[in-house]
Amino acid sequence: MMAANSRAADGLRVVVVGGSLGGLLVANMLRRAGCDVTVHERIGEALSGRGVGIAAHAEMFDAFGRAGVDVNQAIGIAVDDRIVLARDGSVMARHKVRQVMCSWSSLFGLLRAAFAEDRYFAGMEFSGAEQSGAKVRARFADGTEIEADLLIGADGIHSTLRRHYWPASKPQYAGYIAWRGIVEEARVSRETHEMLFTRYAFCLPPGEHMLGYAIAGADGDDRPGRRRYNIVWYRRAEEEGELRRLMTDAAGTHHPLGIPPGLIRSEAVAELRAAARANLAPQFAEMVELVETPFFQSVVDMEVPSMVSGRAVLLGDAAFLARPHCGMGVTKAAGDAVLLAELVVAFPDDIGHALQVYDAERCRFGRYITAYARRLGSQMKHSYASEEERREAEYYRRPETCLRKISLPPDPP
Ligand SMILES: Cc1cc2nc3c(=O)[nH]c(=O)nc-3n(C[C@H](O)[C@H](O)[C@H](O)COP(=O)(O)OP(=O)(O)OC[C@H]3O[C@@H](n4cnc5c(N)ncnc54)[C@H](O)[C@@H]3O)c2cc1C
Repeated sequence: MMAANSRAADGLRVVVVGGSLGGLLVANMLRRAGCDVTVHERIGEALSGRGVGIAAHAEMFDAFGRAGVDVNQAIGIAVDDRIVLARDGSVMARHKVRQVMCSWSSLFGLLRAAFAEDRYFAGMEFSGAEQSGAKVRARFADGTEIEADLLIGADGIHSTLRRHYWPASKPQYAGYIAWRGIVEEARVSRETHEMLFTRYAFCLPPGEHMLGYAIAGADGDDRPGRRRYNIVWYRRAEEEGELRRLMTDAAGTHHPLGIPPGLIRSEAVAELRAAARANLAPQFAEMVELVETPFFQSVVDMEVPSMVSGRAVLLGDAAFLARPHCGMGVTKAAGDAVLLAELVVAFPDDIGHALQVYDAERCRFGRYITAYARRLGSQMKHSYASEEERREAEYYRRPETCLRKISLPPDPP
């Protein structure tokens, strides 16, 4: 559809708030369709050094192609073997499935390079908006105001656009956190390298859920010896005090929206390493020891009643946030971007109709994927409201279930 009408949306003024993957995907697609697009990102310095690993799905590659990124170039590392390691380091379950694992920074670099340098404004924080007829006026913290035909809020989990239009929709903490980190390939012992580097691996001791896979090096280099290993370790932190303690730095400052990696107290990192030695397969304990700057994200559920208000639209994590178990964060943002761009191109003279269809379709998918990811995460619960809940959690904890469901696309809704 986009190719046939590719200049149909010529001149439509679009403001994208948030210059991460979701924002850059939709911005590239709409620019290619002839829209007059600018991207406004709050963070001033380069985002590229920040991310870790991303599970890729076919829909995501399709979206990158539509955004003008040549997906034939090495975009990730393929794995076709999944294993679960027992506490003693032996393989207790195995499943063959092919998947490509990407590095956030490689994906970001490709999308950023595809977008016009002078249309991307770093260090520009969106602060609010007013609708006026078929236009919307976006306001920024530096006093700039821009009138647009379409305002896209791709501003992530703590979205200002969402707070502005849907103040009651807030992330709900799920009672556990995901520790994350990466290890340079050259630092890994030969035994651990042999077991983990070419596989997607899990370790599932009671109450814990660890997984890992290889990603490209920081500069996108995917040659053996230059890659990195990405770990995600889900751990319960149910008590309010426990989460607060982890989010408080050595100077006593609490960071409720997420503590920056370098500020996590050394005692918390030492506790993490001790827990890895006590609970995990030795290969994963070694990885936790080698991660230089571990960081964590609180696992949350987020839903909105609607993704459209007048000419303002939510996209990606700003609207629905599914727990990371299904690995759909980037793919969901990509699906939002593809449909929004297609509809704008198909109905350039009736943007209201395009947004109505987008709202209905993507809310339906957002609700579905959020509920599915919540079920996958039910294994992290430690108390149950019913026997059915307990059985569900046990099902999703089984090694066979993890091998076949975690980070893989769900069945269509
Ligand atoms: C730096 C970074 C690293 C990440 N690394 C990983 C990773 O390693 N693995 C993974 O699975 N997911 C990662 N993610 C999340 C992943 O990008 C998202 O789940 C997915 O791409 C959907 O993202 P999004 O573009 O909707 O939101 P996000 O990627 O969260 O991006 C939102 C963007 O909006 C910006 N923003 C927020 N508020 C404002 C405002 N008021 N004005 C202007 N800009 C604003 C933020 O700075 C951010 O760049 C990362 C996100 C970021 C920002």
